[in-house]
Amino acid sequence: SLKAGIVGLPNVGKSTLFNAVVENGKAQAANFPFCTIEPNVGIVAVPDPRLNVLSNLSKSQRAVPASIEFVDIAGLVKGASQGEGLGNKFLAHIREVDSILQVVRCFEDNDIVHVNGKVDPRSDIDVINLELGFSDLDQIEKRIEKLKKSKGKDSPSKVKEDAERSALEKIQQSLMEGKPARSVVLSDYEKEAIKHLCLLTMKPVIYIANVAESDIGDPESIPHVREVKDLASQYLSGVVAISAQVESELSELPLEERYEYLKSLGVEESGLGNLIRATYDLLGLRTYFTSGEKETKAWTILAGMTAPQAAGVIHSDFEKGFIRAETVAYDDFVVAGSLAAVREKGLLRSEGKDYVVQEGDVMLFRFNV
Ligand code: GDP
Repeated sequence: SLKAGIVGLPNVGKSTLFNAVVENGKAQAANFPFCTIEPNVGIVAVPDPRLNVLSNLSKSQRAVPASIEFVDIAGLVKGASQGEGLGNKFLAHIREVDSILQVVRCFEDNDIVHVNGKVDPRSDIDVINLELGFSDLDQIEKRIEKLKKSKGKDSPSKVKEDAERSALEKIQQSLMEGKPARSVVLSDYEKEAIKHLCLLTMKPVIYIANVAESDIGDPESIPHVREVKDLASQYLSGVVAISAQVESELSELPLEERYEYLKSLGVEESGLGNLIRATYDLLGLRTYFTSGEKETKAWTILAGMTAPQAAGVIHSDFEKGFIRAETVAYDDFVVAGSLAAVREKGLLRSEGKDYVVQEGDVMLFRFNV
């Protein structure tokens, strides 16, 4: 599943949020087959009301939601890229995630020490960006040196190496101006050439503005939150306001009392839903379903994926042996009431390998093994 790494300076609320999200996920996913929790890794179901609707219509034995894996990456301090603290280990963890969620402290509390002495979102964000940027610069410098020494003359690999080098030089320039690698315009060929480096500032980032319980009803009224929003748009990142405290209290309440509690704070739903939506938006993710008697399942794909690529998310053999897909839009399935009725009404379309899977498609794949 999709991997999201939670980072941030000490005492901003990372662990509080991580633990709450994992607890909430467990409660919602009580009858789902994943609750494997390592100390710093939690797998959380993506809430999606369409899943149960489909599952009921298909009389499925079980419903399996899509999932997101959250990793609590503690240990970032100033100087991490120079190997201070848990620096290198920390950066290696970040290299493995699909997106970075940075918790930014926007709550005031004199009892909880801030590493810089005061709540200052801009400085929190800059410290982390600097560390990630330094690490990328270091890696890029070494790689460019290596490419310079490369002997290959007019071979195909030379063409690729040239593309890599020119892309890296552009990124280097941008990083020195304080701009992340993801802000550099690259051709698809260049992107492919530098992919193996897994640059940290290439990864999509969402800032989680951690606000006080009393502010969650109207986070925009907090100047700190507005500052995080400004920075997010400047750094091509997403932003979502959450109260780690609220999430934590929610996770301790019985399910039936949660809504009342949220309502008393002036919000409709927990922050997890908002966070997941922000992640789907920023990463351009889409959901499609498979649905039958055995199970109804939600699958996560990238926007623009074709039917064979979407099939490949289930199993690589499905992609290799892809013949065609039978598909129906979620709304049409619900109106018809069952797969049999969908067939009868002629709503099931047969699509080939160029079909781009749409949000909410219910898919049946035909393939050779
Ligand atoms: P981490 O070091 O970033 O993992 O931070 P923790 O999650 O351990 O939180 C540090 C301290 O801040 C703990 O005492 C939390 O209870 C507290 N804390 C976290 N979120 C909030 C919040 O939204 N409001 C308040 N007042 N305290 C919080």
